[in-house]
Amino acid sequence: MIEVLWDVIFPQRNCTLCHASGFFSSRRPWCSHCEQCLEDLKSNQYICSKCGKYMEDDLQVCLDCQESKPLFSIARAVGPYEGGYRQVIKQFKFLEKKKLACRMAQMMADVVIDTPGYWPLDVVVPVPVSQEGMISRGFNQSELLARRIARYIRVKLMPEVLVRIKMVPPQRDLSREERKKNLINAFAVPNNEWVKGKNVLLVDDVYTTGTTARECSRVLYDAGANRVSVIAWAAGKGF
Ligand SMILES: [Zn+2]
Ligand SMILES: [Zn+2]
Repeated sequence: MIEVLWDVIFPQRNCTLCHASGFFSSRRPWCSHCEQCLEDLKSNQYICSKCGKYMEDDLQVCLDCQESKPLFSIARAVGPYEGGYRQVIKQFKFLEKKKLACRMAQMMADVVIDTPGYWPLDVVVPVPVSQEGMISRGFNQSELLARRIARYIRVKLMPEVLVRIKMVPPQRDLSREERKKNLINAFAVPNNEWVKGKNVLLVDDVYTTGTTARECSRVLYDAGANRVSVIAWAAGKGF
């Protein structure tokens, strides 16, 4: 509903990705050429059957997951963290094009709907934003996505289930090991009753090293969740 209003008040005359002119909307923020490019980027790619990362070879399971099996049951993304997928996340997150959440969430919901490994589901939970992100952007991008995904798949949204309890320095420049250490005990479930016995869909914008998704899953399982699965807009490369 809000999107419809947005589209009326702020009509979009250019493709978000290639800037070609035309008539666009929150449901169709990019042109059919760019839509095809996104489609092509993800087709014919090998993905890790566990975490959904994109791989050069058909290994079935990436080295990360072979080394230490994630607790979550399945993680998938709409596409690889490159090209248009990367551009979209940049615009959404850093240029605050919140309207993009509409189409992004729809594509994420489609992946969940079409992948049997996700079902059944009871609650949708966004990854809580870091203080750094909240201060610089003032919104939690994962919650914007989660809210719409919950609506599309008709599953209850519960953003209060997971909270950040630790100030975490920016993750960007850290090694994988440092990231992992950094995130230990960064999240908590304030009330175990909210997740006890529930099948949880965790929503994140990007799945890169997987440390955040892994740590959130651990906390959710500790609180008594029955099953945790993860959906992201884009996933990084696995080896
Ligand atoms: Zn375009
Ligand atoms: Zn993997």
